[in-house]
Amino acid sequence: MTRIAFIGLGNMGGPMAANLVKSGHAVSGFDLSEASVKSAAEAGVIPALSLTEAVRDAECVITMLPKGQHVVSVWTDLATLVAEGTLLIDCSTVDVDSARRAHGLGGAMNCPSLDAPVSGGTTGAAAGTLTFMVGGSEDAFAVGKPILEAMGKKIVHCGGNGAGQAAKICNNMILGISMIGVAEAFVLAEKLGLSHQALFDVASTSSGQCWSLTTYCPVPGPVPTSPANNDYEPGFAAALMLKDLMLSQEAASHSGARTPLGAHAAEIYAEFDRYGHGTEDFSAIIRMLRQTQAS
Ligand code: NAD
Repeated sequence: MTRIAFIGLGNMGGPMAANLVKSGHAVSGFDLSEASVKSAAEAGVIPALSLTEAVRDAECVITMLPKGQHVVSVWTDLATLVAEGTLLIDCSTVDVDSARRAHGLGGAMNCPSLDAPVSGGTTGAAAGTLTFMVGGSEDAFAVGKPILEAMGKKIVHCGGNGAGQAAKICNNMILGISMIGVAEAFVLAEKLGLSHQALFDVASTSSGQCWSLTTYCPVPGPVPTSPANNDYEPGFAAALMLKDLMLSQEAASHSGARTPLGAHAAEIYAEFDRYGHGTEDFSAIIRMLRQTQAS
């Protein structure tokens, strides 16, 4: 049993904290939203009225917050609140620079730290089947792994500070590009009079095969569990895909990597978001591609 403080009890953090409780950890939780704290408390999390109260006596602090600025701000506040040696883990999806700044703050506190973003969405968070992509030292990883195992089924140590965030944005850049590619193929098939099922049967067993097609097919029918069958309810919201594509573009520009398709995918999702579709599943991009074809 570890005394864990969980900061950020939203769509992801709430169920993740609940799984830590189920595994026998003592979890105190804080969120700026009272409703989120209340709902976490119903799952056995000890409610805290402030960051200070949540982290008192904690052996490990986990943050699950919207963006890099929130993480850096909370980790800055931790400097005067936690004891040396407290394990600090950030599970949010943030830019690599913010992740490294957070590690720097951890180092200044003499606290081991990990960046550990996740894949698997809200369903994975609830089921405890998330994949964690982890950056940080071998020693910090060894201490953090058993805690992460209470919330996930696959824990991958990707390298040093920031490597988890790097893996996350590279993966999601592939995903954004591949979803647009699959959606374009279905739009072209429709124009050519080819049925969705025929394209699926061929491409899913040919060189066009990929996760966006076989698990998350953007048209209803071939994969009954994909959001397309549920009027594109997320799933993974288009606004979050846009956020991750923008992070990948920021990283590409800082590092000098050439990612023309990643840049174009970001523009396409930005347009989709501007039209007010940010809360739809990201596979709903096919609807915008159809409209462009028609006009
Ligand atoms: P969310 O908006 O539901 O939750 C974030 C929570 O942080 C909110 O409840 C907010 O009140 C709280 N918060 C913000 N600033 C705070 C502060 N200073 N102190 C305490 N609480 C604070 O977001 P989410 O969907 O849970 O996502 C969290 C992170 O996980 C994001 O970085 C997101 O990109 C990433 N992520 C989300 C998904 C998904 O499917 N939702 C999947 C993978 C990764």
